[in-house]
Amino acid sequence: MNEMTTISREQRPYSEAAKKALSRKPALFINNEWVASSHDATIPVEDPSCGKEVSRIVDASDKDVDRAVAAARAAFDDGRWSNLPPMVRDRTMHRLADLLEAHADEFAELEAIDNGKPKGMAGAVDIPGAISQIRFMAGWASKVGGETTAPYTMPAGTVFSYTVKEPVGVCAQIVPWNFPLLMACLKIAPALAAGCTIVLKPAEQTSLTALRLADLVAEAGFPAGVLNIITGNGHTAGDRMVKHPDVDKVAFTGSTEIGKLINKNATDTMKRVTLELGGKSPVVVMPDVDVAATAPGVAGAIFFNAGQVCVAGSRLYAHRSVFDKVVEGMAETAPFWAPRASLDPEAHMGAIISKEQHDKVMGYIEAGKRDGASVAMGGDAPSGNGYFVNPTILVDVNPQMSVVREEIFGPVVVAQRFDDLDEVAKSANDTAFGLGAGIWTKDVATMHKLAAKIKSGTVWGNCHAMIDTALPFGGYKESGIGREQGKAGIDAYLETKTVIIQL
Ligand code: NAP
Repeated sequence: MNEMTTISREQRPYSEAAKKALSRKPALFINNEWVASSHDATIPVEDPSCGKEVSRIVDASDKDVDRAVAAARAAFDDGRWSNLPPMVRDRTMHRLADLLEAHADEFAELEAIDNGKPKGMAGAVDIPGAISQIRFMAGWASKVGGETTAPYTMPAGTVFSYTVKEPVGVCAQIVPWNFPLLMACLKIAPALAAGCTIVLKPAEQTSLTALRLADLVAEAGFPAGVLNIITGNGHTAGDRMVKHPDVDKVAFTGSTEIGKLINKNATDTMKRVTLELGGKSPVVVMPDVDVAATAPGVAGAIFFNAGQVCVAGSRLYAHRSVFDKVVEGMAETAPFWAPRASLDPEAHMGAIISKEQHDKVMGYIEAGKRDGASVAMGGDAPSGNGYFVNPTILVDVNPQMSVVREEIFGPVVVAQRFDDLDEVAKSANDTAFGLGAGIWTKDVATMHKLAAKIKSGTVWGNCHAMIDTALPFGGYKESGIGREQGKAGIDAYLETKTVIIQL
């Protein structure tokens, strides 16, 4: 751990482009214009690497939300977006992707300042990921369509029946802080391709890249009111969006607790709901692996993005015969993952999003220790003004401990031993969640057998958290409802209409 104590965690100076974005007057993006809020309330924006306030954003009022929803409603109802030739929607989306690409470095820096993640990582993962979501979904604008289907009970030639796919309408989209721009683009891309209109609310901790995206929305040529971006608190602005009678669909990514609340709140008006929620993803290491190659991968499964990943490999199950070596190999990655300020070019792990989340993660580590867990790596926080937590491995844990059962959402993994396949499948499924799972083995048969047993929306083999816009993503059990990405992602923004005409 000596390497960690000698690292300077001073934040680096911001670029001129970042300073300009940070000095933006708090405003909301409605009808392709920057408009003032109906009241004066604002929310501070903090750089988690130094704990300083660096900007302020609007805390949207009910009136602000109503104004944004009215803009999206009008834009949907007069068909200014959905009635355009699909080719035009496709091209407009690609123009937005082009603009994002042209400003990729600025977006990566803003994400690093706002979220605390390393700029290098934002530039390698978040920003290209956001762009590919838009590019892939743009193509669906011209590919969705219905079917002509002969009825089962009616004689041939007596009716003509077909289905059409129609955009679901006005969408309220609410995203979390862990991959702010990527999550926002993951939501807006299928909705835009389907012909829907949108009110997007980023997390109150990380709104900077969504606001900067709004500048590009107008430049790309989207008609006014198609994509409105507001900032504010979830329990006020988010709640208003979810309950608003003029909203047809809610798409939410965030915690299971808030997801359950949103699902209830959307029911009165029978809104369509897609929920991408929390996880406590198992990672299983079989006895046949090459430990030297596997341990860094398993460490990356939890320490990437400081463990603030819905599919973070936070429960490690290593076969008894390799357990000690795997844990030792993971511990050797400590210098690589040592937390640094987000604009430090050597950073692989940055800060935790906020003091509140930092204290929550440290609280879990302390609870684990109190419950009898031993620390095999980390277990503490480095000094400094930022919200850093050292990458942590807890061993000597049991399935009843809170560190094993609950989503910590930080760089903390609990490591357990197992002896056979059925036992580890049972342990892997011993959770309310079902978002992701990793299996590490050279044996293809074992891989398939275990993949079939684990109840999870995605299973990775010899890798972790690989996400691709063409592949459906979502959760079993309390990890969510519905799927995003791939064809399933666009379907979530379409209604099916059946037309039956008697001839
Ligand atoms: P969160 O507290 O649930 O918040 C997520 C979003 O919901 C924020 O924009 C928040 O607003 C808003 N919100 C809060 N209360 C609301 C309400 N009553 N009505 C409407 N909106 C409300 O989650 P988080 O802490 O930001 O993110 C971490 C969680 O997200 C973890 O559980 C993680 O697993 C999950 N996640 C899941 C996926 C996935 O794809 N399954 C991906 C990433 C993250 P404010 O924060 O601005 O108040």
